[in-house]
Amino acid sequence: MMQSLELVRPSKAMDCIATVVASDWLTPTIKSIRLDLHNPDFAFLPGQSVWPKFERDGKRFSKIYSIASSPSQCPIVELCVSRVGWSSAYLQDLPIGASLPLRGPYGLMTIDRLPTLPRLYIVEGSGIAPIKSQIEWLYEQQYEHPVWLVQANPETPDELPYEDLWRSLTLQWPQFRYFETIRPESILQTIASFRNGIVSFRNGIDLDDFEIDICAVDDRSSQIRDAVLAHGANAAAVRSESFHAF
Ligand SMILES: Cc1cc2nc3c(=O)[nH]c(=O)nc-3n(C[C@H](O)[C@H](O)[C@H](O)COP(=O)(O)OP(=O)(O)OC[C@H]3O[C@@H](n4cnc5c(N)ncnc54)[C@H](O)[C@@H]3O)c2cc1C
Repeated sequence: MMQSLELVRPSKAMDCIATVVASDWLTPTIKSIRLDLHNPDFAFLPGQSVWPKFERDGKRFSKIYSIASSPSQCPIVELCVSRVGWSSAYLQDLPIGASLPLRGPYGLMTIDRLPTLPRLYIVEGSGIAPIKSQIEWLYEQQYEHPVWLVQANPETPDELPYEDLWRSLTLQWPQFRYFETIRPESILQTIASFRNGIVSFRNGIDLDDFEIDICAVDDRSSQIRDAVLAHGANAAAVRSESFHAF
C-alpha cells in the first residue's frame, strides 16, 4: 500500500463503464465492491464519490456512493455499500465481471493537499467509505501528524467494516490511533472521554487542535457534529457528510 503520490485534481466529471472485479462481505450487511473503470484519465480526490446509473422498470436513475480506496489504486476504485434498499442491493448482488455505468467524481469533503494539522475521523456504518480513502492516502504519504479514527456500526455493532485493516495500521503507523466503539451510544462517550482527559493527548493536543471529518447516515452526522462542538472542537475545522437517500 506504500506509494507516494501527487494528488491529481480532477478537471471534470466523466462517464465510465466499470467492471466488477471483486465483491466481498465486510460485515453481514456491508460489502466492499471493487470496480475497474478502464480509464487511465479518471482521477479523484480522497473523499469524493461516483454516481452509478441504474435502470428499474424502464426508469433510469442514479445514486451517489463514496469511493473507499486511495486515488493511488486508480483506475480500480472500491465502493463500500450498506444493504438498505433496491439500489444498494443491486450493487451488492452484481456478479464479478458485470458492467456498471457511472459518472464521477463529485464531492467536497476531500483532501486536496497534504494537511498540516492532526486529523480526527468519526464514522458510522458505511460512512467509513470516504474516510478510508483519506486515511489510506495519508498513510501512503506517511503523514506525520496524528490521525485518529473513531468507528461504530449501528447495523451490526460488534462487526466494524475494515476493523482488521485499522488494527494492523495501528501497528504499522505510529501516528494512527483506532477507537472501536461497539455500543451505539459509545461513539459519543468516546468523544466525551477525549474531553475529560481519559484518553491522553500526546504532546498536549486537545480536541480543538484537530481537523475533524464526520460521516454517518441521515441526522446522525449532525448529532455527532453537535457533540464534538459541545466538547470544544473548533467549528471552522469540523466537516460532516450525511449519507441519505435522494
Ligand atoms: C454524499 C453521499 C455519499 C454516499 N455514499 C454512500 C456509500 O459510500 N455507501 C453507501 O452504502 N451509501 C452511500 N450513500 C447512500 C446512497 O446514495 C443511497 O442513498 C443508499 O444506498 C440507499 O439507496 P437504496 O436505493 O438502496 O435504498 P432506499 O430505498 O433509497 O433507502 C432508503 C433508506 O436507507 C437509508 N440509508 C441510506 N444510505 C444508507 C446507508 N449507507 N446505511 C444505512 N442506511 C442508509 C436512508 O435513511 C433511507 O431512509 C451516500 C449518500 C450520499 C448523499
